[in-house]
Amino acid sequence: MKWWRIVGWVCLLGCMISCQREPSARFKRIEAWKHADGQLKVLSTIGMIEDLVKQIGGEHVASLALIEGELDPHTYQLVKGDDALFCEADLIFYSGLGLEHGPSLHQYLQQSEKAFSVAEEIAQQNPEGIIWIHGQPDPHIWMDIELWASSIPFLTEKLCQKDPDHRQAFLVNARKLLHEMQGYHEEALLALQAIPSTERYLVTSHDAFHYFAKAYLANPEEQTSALWKHRATAPEGLAPESQLSSCDIRAVVDYLHAHKVSVVFPETNVNLDSLKKIMQVAKEEGLTVRLAEEPLYGDAMGEAGSSGDSYLKMMTHNVRTIQKELQIR
Ligand code: FE
Repeated sequence: MKWWRIVGWVCLLGCMISCQREPSARFKRIEAWKHADGQLKVLSTIGMIEDLVKQIGGEHVASLALIEGELDPHTYQLVKGDDALFCEADLIFYSGLGLEHGPSLHQYLQQSEKAFSVAEEIAQQNPEGIIWIHGQPDPHIWMDIELWASSIPFLTEKLCQKDPDHRQAFLVNARKLLHEMQGYHEEALLALQAIPSTERYLVTSHDAFHYFAKAYLANPEEQTSALWKHRATAPEGLAPESQLSSCDIRAVVDYLHAHKVSVVFPETNVNLDSLKKIMQVAKEEGLTVRLAEEPLYGDAMGEAGSSGDSYLKMMTHNVRTIQKELQIR
C-alpha cells in the first residue's frame, strides 16, 4: 500500500475515533448537573425558567433545562434518559397553564410532588395579568419581562425551603435579578413605545407574542381594555402545528391590509411554511411584505453563544429586532 494511502487511513480512523469520543455539549451539561457536588439540583422544563433559577441559585444550585434548542415545549414527550433526570432532581419547575401538553411530560408533571408550575403561581397571584385566547390561558408569560419577574419570589422561596442554609445568598441574588429585569422591562418599553403607534403591529409565526404586544406595543390606554389585542396576530395558535385553514390565512392577510404591515417575523423554532403562504397570498393581492432578517425567540432560547442564550439576551434580541424591522419602510 502506498504511503499516502496509509496516512489517509490513519487520519480517517483518528477522526472517527475523536468524533465518537467527543461528547455533545448537552451530554456534558447533563453529566455536570448529575455530578454536581453539594449543590441543589434543579430541573426546569424550559430555558426561560432554568435561567432565572441559575441567577437566583448562583453557586449553590445546579440548574438544567429539560427542553433545549429548537424542541417545541408544547408537544415535548419524554425520551430515554429523562426519567433519570426527574429522579435526580431535588426540585422541578415547569411553566404550566397548558404549555407542556405532550402527554407523557404532562402526566409526569401533574403527578410529581417535587414539580411546581411557575405560570400557575403567577396566575394565582395576579389573575388579571393572564391573557386568555379562545377560552385558553396563554402560557407565554415570559414575553412580558415584568410579569415574568413576578415569579422570582416564588422560585426563591422554593429554593430556600429546599436549602435553608443558603437563604441569604438566594435572597440577595433574587433582589439583584428583580432589579435587573425591571431595568430591561423599562428599556424595552422606552424603545418600542418610541415607534409611532400606527406602526406598532406585529405578525409572528404563532401566538407567542400576546404578552409582548400588551406590555410593549399597545398604547397605555389600550392595556386596560381589549384594544391591545389588535397589536399582534399570527397564523398559528398558542401551539404551532403548521396546519393552516384558508380562514387562518385570510385573517392574517386582512390584518396586513388593515394595519399596512410590511414585515412578518419568523421564530427560531417554528418552520416558515405558514408565513410563506401568507406572503404569497399577500403578494397576489398587491401587498409588499417581507420576512424579517432575523427570527425572533418565541418558545425557546438560543444555543450557547447565540444572541438568545440567556432569558434577558433573548428578550433584548426580540426587542431590538422588532424595533429595527418595524421602522423600515
Ligand atoms: Fe408557543
